[in-house]
Amino acid sequence: MIPRIAIVGAGPGGLTLARILDLGGIAATVFEQEAHALVRPQGGTLDLHVGSGQLALTRAGLTAEFERIARYEDQGSRLYDKAGRLLLADDDADGDRPEVDRTALRNVLLASLPEGRVRWGHALREVRPREDGRYDLVFEGASAGPFDLVVGADGTWSRVRPLVSAYRPQYTGLTFIEFGIDDVDTRHPALSRLVGRGKIGVEGDARSLIVQRNGHAHLRGYAIFRVPTDWAARRFDFSAPAAARARLAAEFEGWAPEILDLIRAANDQIVARAIHALPVGHHWPNRVGVTLLGDAAHVMSPFGGEGVNAAMLDAAELGRLLVETQDWREAVRTYEAEMFQRIVEPATEAAEAAATELSHDSLALTLAHFSEHARSRTAQAAST
Ligand SMILES: Cc1cc2nc3c(=O)[nH]c(=O)nc-3n(C[C@H](O)[C@H](O)[C@H](O)COP(=O)(O)OP(=O)(O)OC[C@H]3O[C@@H](n4cnc5c(N)ncnc54)[C@H](O)[C@@H]3O)c2cc1C
Repeated sequence: MIPRIAIVGAGPGGLTLARILDLGGIAATVFEQEAHALVRPQGGTLDLHVGSGQLALTRAGLTAEFERIARYEDQGSRLYDKAGRLLLADDDADGDRPEVDRTALRNVLLASLPEGRVRWGHALREVRPREDGRYDLVFEGASAGPFDLVVGADGTWSRVRPLVSAYRPQYTGLTFIEFGIDDVDTRHPALSRLVGRGKIGVEGDARSLIVQRNGHAHLRGYAIFRVPTDWAARRFDFSAPAAARARLAAEFEGWAPEILDLIRAANDQIVARAIHALPVGHHWPNRVGVTLLGDAAHVMSPFGGEGVNAAMLDAAELGRLLVETQDWREAVRTYEAEMFQRIVEPATEAAEAAATELSHDSLALTLAHFSEHARSRTAQAAST
């Protein structure tokens, strides 16, 4: 029997699953809270890894589309200190983790789905179990169902998760203030040279800046602080961008002018993101008809860049198992058991990175990490 499947959330995880199911002859419906695909830019750049994000796109039959949006040339990384001294530069573009813009990735996935497969403007409020063992979805002013299987791909604050787990993501202690710089190559050539082709990190005084090159000559920056969750709301008025910019630059007082220029050049979209994570090893007893993937199942701090890759690999595996396994209930059980194991290592690394970020010795630790990374890449290149 082909199960009736609802996927909640049209993020990279939910859309990858919908596409792989579609290729396997299962037409799942995706319910997304956003009103339409272009309601907001989907955020920054992501590097897709060979064995996870890229593998998922291969299984989704989207390799050619991926190659069209992949930016292999933007894999460099540089580390500066607060005086603007370059401590380490790895401008090598030979890596196998190309960057893609989140919006471009979403567009590729959306274009691969039949018209109408995503139901926009459907913010899930509740999943309601029925007496026949199936589930109805309740939205603002509407409902849908019944479904045999509900897949929560609805991110950090999943409304599906409470059906299987009482855990809630915990604050990591880190808040990112996110900002963007437009048209950097022509309007800010000095900043374009400072960042180069990839991303830079600048650390000092128990705070840091990460700035990443996105497509279309856009830079996205994160100013990172270890503070209480309500700190940003108390300190910044984001509805007054000029004041927020000045306030943010003041947080880095004494840093080199060329570094502060990154903040001064920011556009008016300045937002705070309190970074939350589920505990490492988060899992739940199987409940027939409900499962989770991606951030809904295992949101972790973004250090390590595994989140989107893990979400897409979850989708690829759940999709494959649902298509190949005769009993869909068995497919979900197998998916969950394997995913719980698979995610422990990246979640541990992300948790440790968040725990040590902004320590009194973080610059030296980051330098050691960068050097180790560069050494292992050189060794890898020599052995191939
Ligand atoms: C600042 C920051 C930087 C990051 N950088 C990286 C990086 O460089 N590399 C990387 O791999 N990962 C990164 N991540 C993590 C990455 O963004 C996530 O791991 C990834 O997006 C998870 O995909 P997902 O599909 O599981 O969930 P999401 O991308 O969160 O998608 C969830 C979808 O569900 C929808 N939704 C939510 N609630 C509802 C509801 N009630 N009803 C209907 N729809 C709903 C949302 O609108 C959204 O479209 C970063 C995260 C942050 C916060």
